[in-house]
Amino acid sequence: MALIVQKFGGTSVGNPERIKNVAKRVAGYRAKGDKVVVVVSAMSGVTDNLIKMAKEIMPLPNEREMDVLLATGEQTTIALTAIALHALGVPAVSLTGAQAGIVTDGVHTKAKIQNITPRKIHELLDAGQVVIVAGFQGQTIEGQVTTLGRGGSDLTAIALAAALKADLCQIYTDVDGVYTADPRIVPTARKLDEISYDEMLELASLGAKVMQSRSVEFAKKFGVIFEVRSSLNDNPGTIVKEETKSMEGIVLRGVSLDKNQAKITLVAVPDKPGVAARIFKAIGDANVNVDMIVQNISHGSGTPATDISFTVDKPDLLKAQKVIEALRQEVGFGKVISSENIGKLSIVGVGMKSHTGVAGKMFENLAREGVNIDMISTSEIKISVVVDLAKGEQAMKAVHAAFLG
Ligand code: ADP
Ligand code: ASP
Ligand code: MG
Repeated sequence: MALIVQKFGGTSVGNPERIKNVAKRVAGYRAKGDKVVVVVSAMSGVTDNLIKMAKEIMPLPNEREMDVLLATGEQTTIALTAIALHALGVPAVSLTGAQAGIVTDGVHTKAKIQNITPRKIHELLDAGQVVIVAGFQGQTIEGQVTTLGRGGSDLTAIALAAALKADLCQIYTDVDGVYTADPRIVPTARKLDEISYDEMLELASLGAKVMQSRSVEFAKKFGVIFEVRSSLNDNPGTIVKEETKSMEGIVLRGVSLDKNQAKITLVAVPDKPGVAARIFKAIGDANVNVDMIVQNISHGSGTPATDISFTVDKPDLLKAQKVIEALRQEVGFGKVISSENIGKLSIVGVGMKSHTGVAGKMFENLAREGVNIDMISTSEIKISVVVDLAKGEQAMKAVHAAFLG
């Protein structure tokens, strides 16, 4: 008898028929004697639609209210999933994040899990119930509803698997596993049988939304081995775990394209100590994540000035712009130029650190496609470039073909 955490994403619970299929799968595991905890997302499109409605009323809605609003999506699907299990004669109970004992900090819309008290879940499992937990949400110690950032149901599942010391954690989605690139963009992408936490983490944070990056970070920290697989068939998926021997020697694991970034350029920023610190401290204080930063060499006569460009998540662009405008007086820079028409293309692989010429090969292939590189950043296991959004998919296909066939 095993304790299994199964997470079903938005498409997998996208309509009553799909929810009935989820219930059948869950009932099958339970019939074998397993204890099953199910985590569900909102139906696909629901969270986006809730955000859209709020923004129609006001461009920057209050974040506490956004959490109260967004948490409703998952609340619908937990109840429907419980009802679908009841229809099959399986005892099941739905729990909100708060009822499941998920305690977070108070950073609305991007809350971090502080601790999980799984007592209630254990009690219900011991009583023979299937426990269905709302993904993506938690509660502060003061009782405020919070959400865990987009794609956060993955994090709920991984964190519960850690807290419950689950024997198995399965992430069910609408593709067969983790591929060498998004199979919807690159038809020649191959499914990977396994991938290391570090590679999965890079792919996820660089735009492969098949897993939320924070959930992978959590899994690595707590050693939660999980499988990404399809809810639409029984094919084996991709196992995500620490690096293994069989993974050695592979230079590149995958290619990802992040279309969800925006670029801000501050023109003529005074080039003196403390200025960058002031700007990025203010942006950080507003809980906006900055990814790439590029600073040019100084130019102009008189007081040296420089241009600074950086990228943020698209949904945070407006907030970042406000923070920057508030600094104008104090810091004294020129124009602020923003662009949402960028794509961040990345190649990822742990083998890259011991191979030379990878960057050259990537850039050469981009040049051949006539794709201009706007920004570059590298780490031991990845190379990212910012390119024109309109050329992003073409660039991704070319780079995938060059390295991964
Ligand atoms: P869920 O609703 O189940 O959480 P998501 O839509 O968040 O599903 O993530 C699954 C999607 O991720 C797939 O439909 C696929 O288009 C996309 N994707 C992006 N990169 C990859 C990749 N490297 N491997 C597999 N899927 C990927
Ligand atoms: N419903 C949330 C979202 O769309 C969480 C999730 O699907 O994982 O971001
Ligand atoms: Mg997802």
